[in-house]
Amino acid sequence: MVTIKQALNNASSLQQHSDSWRLDAELLLAAAIQQQRGYLFTWPDEEISAEQLQLFQQYCARRSKGEPIAYILGRQAFWDFDLMVNPHVLIPRPETELLVEFAIELLPTEQFKKADILDLGTGSGAIALALASTNPNWQLTAVDRSGRALAVARENAQELKLGNIEFRQASWCDGLAPEQFDLIVANPPYVRSGDEHLAQGSLPFEPVMALVAEENGLADIRSIAQQCKYCLKKDAWLLIEHGYDQKDEVAKLLHESAYQNIECIQDLAKLDRMTKAQYPGQAG
Ligand code: GLN
Repeated sequence: MVTIKQALNNASSLQQHSDSWRLDAELLLAAAIQQQRGYLFTWPDEEISAEQLQLFQQYCARRSKGEPIAYILGRQAFWDFDLMVNPHVLIPRPETELLVEFAIELLPTEQFKKADILDLGTGSGAIALALASTNPNWQLTAVDRSGRALAVARENAQELKLGNIEFRQASWCDGLAPEQFDLIVANPPYVRSGDEHLAQGSLPFEPVMALVAEENGLADIRSIAQQCKYCLKKDAWLLIEHGYDQKDEVAKLLHESAYQNIECIQDLAKLDRMTKAQYPGQAG
C-alpha cells in the first residue's frame, strides 16, 4: 500500500515535464482521491487504494505528455468560480480575468441600471459568466461558432445557476443586428499561424479555432471591429483582447472602422493585452 506522501514523492518524474510538478502532482492526487488539496497535507500518512493509485498514475502519465492540468481535471479556476472545460474550449487565462475587470469599469456603476452585454467567441463562457455573476441586472448574450464550445458554456451557466445569459451559435455578429449592446467584449483568436508559441505549454492541446487567425493573427479582430459597429449603442464600448505585439495594428483597424477613444491596456506582466474603443454612432 502507498501513502499520500509516498504517492506524491513517487511523482517526481513529472519534474522533467512541468515547472510546477509538485503542485501538478498535488492537484492530480487530490482529484484521484476526490478530496481537496489541503487534505493531502492534513493526512500525509493515509493509505490510498489501489484504484486511486492507478487513477493518479494515469493522470500523471497524461501530464507527462504535456496535457494541461485543466483538461485532465476538466476544471479551471476563473474569476470566483471553477469552470468546466474540455478540449473544445480554450483554457481561461488569468489575463482574461483582467479583461473582465476592465469591462466592469466600462459599465454603469448604478447597481440597478440595466445593461446589455455581448461576449463574442465565448468558449467556456468565462467572460460572460463572470459578468453575469457580477450584476443580475446585466443581460449577457454569449456567442460562439462552435456548438461544442456552447455546450460547455451552457453547462457552466447551469452549474452556476446564472439565468441572465443567453447563448447563440453564430460567427461573430452574424444575425444579431438590429440588436444593440452597451458593451461588447471578445477574446478572439489572434495567434499567427506558424507562431512558435503554438508548440508550447497548453497550446498544442487547445482548439486551433480559438487560437489562430489569418492575416498574421488579425483577421478575426478585423471582422469584429467591422461588424460590432452595427451592434453597439451610441458611445458604447468594444473591449477586445489581443496579442502582446498587436497594439498598433489593432488600433489601426479600429480607427479605420471609425471608433474613437482607442486605448490599449496592459496586463499585470506589463504586456499590451487588450484595447478598448468607443463607437460614436452612425453619422447622419
Ligand atoms: N493568450 C493566449 C495564449 O497565447 C491566446 C488566446 C487567444 O488566442 N485568444 O496563450
